[in-house]
Amino acid sequence: MSGRTRDLSCPERTCVGCRERAAKHDLLRVTAVEGVCVPDPRGTLPGRGAHLHPRPGCLDLALRRRAFPRAFRLPGPLDTAAVQRYVEALPRVAEMSEH
Ligand SMILES: [Zn+2]
Repeated sequence: MSGRTRDLSCPERTCVGCRERAAKHDLLRVTAVEGVCVPDPRGTLPGRGAHLHPRPGCLDLALRRRAFPRAFRLPGPLDTAAVQRYVEALPRVAEMSEH
């Protein structure tokens, strides 16, 4: 982290993969449109959202625990190919170090 004092105006969300809390802007919002999970990096799509670290590991965890259907209150299974493509297309960011 930057070492600045915590910015209280910055909301936190829980990653549906690793279940760690993180600043909302560090997480990818995912929402469901007609049974398909779609990445919503700008947070502009309506409806329920799930938040996820945009990392393959967290996506994998979220898929294994069926976090998306639960987050969206949908029966599932949901098509998550678009989210997988989005996460895989991102440049690999070094794991955030926690100090
Ligand atoms: Zn995570």
